[in-house]
Amino acid sequence: MRKQIAAANWKMNCTFQQGEKLLDDILSAEIELASHQLAIFAVPYPYLLMTRSEVEEEQNYYVAAQNCHDKKFGAYTGEVSAAMLHSMNVNYCVIGHSERREYNGETNAMLADKVNLCFENFITPLFCCGEPLNIREAGTQNDYVAVQLKESLFHLPADKIKNIVIAYEPIWAIGTGKTASTEQAQEIHQYLRSVIAGQYGEAVANEIPILYGGSVKANNAKELFSCADVDGGLVGGASLVAADFIEIIKALK
Ligand code: PEP
Repeated sequence: MRKQIAAANWKMNCTFQQGEKLLDDILSAEIELASHQLAIFAVPYPYLLMTRSEVEEEQNYYVAAQNCHDKKFGAYTGEVSAAMLHSMNVNYCVIGHSERREYNGETNAMLADKVNLCFENFITPLFCCGEPLNIREAGTQNDYVAVQLKESLFHLPADKIKNIVIAYEPIWAIGTGKTASTEQAQEIHQYLRSVIAGQYGEAVANEIPILYGGSVKANNAKELFSCADVDGGLVGGASLVAADFIEIIKALK
């Protein structure tokens, strides 16, 4: 079965101590994950080592960075490279979150470089795509997300792209409390998979987990994750509340 993933995105929230407690509370629920189920915590850079050591004894729990730089190394004060993450045994990295696209001017071309650097450093990119509200209202969301995939991912060979994780996150649903309906989510996830299949074939497309992100909560996760092409979620707000994220992990197929 394709991997099913509950990924927490803490963004710029929690002190170190609050983060430790949040992880302790979630891990003390002792949710046993099946071999195809994963829980991933995308935490601020200074918390990577603490999080890694909290999860490393647990089966199928992982730490992720929320970003990496698009250059290998050099005079980029304040930045963190994929090689640095690899040297800390960080195996996942969120790439192209809409907040970074918007506030840090990240382009599809820059994200292609970040994805390459992740793969060069044995890091699985959690690649985010998704349309703003005006595109959804114009009904052109499929073309919009297809271009994001093509420009950032379709230079990859099949044996690399099959290891990626995609998160479809409609920008109008992130942090707004507005969730895509199960029909909207399934429709665009199926479309994304068909675009990948068009480029790489069905077998590759069927291996890639496509997560949904945008106001996933404890009370809607099960319904969203039950869609055939929704393979879990990338979760912001609700991942900061232990009881809620526990329910979201439990909602995985
Ligand atoms: C996110 O940050 O990726 C996200 C989906 O946030 P929220 O769950 O708060 O909408």
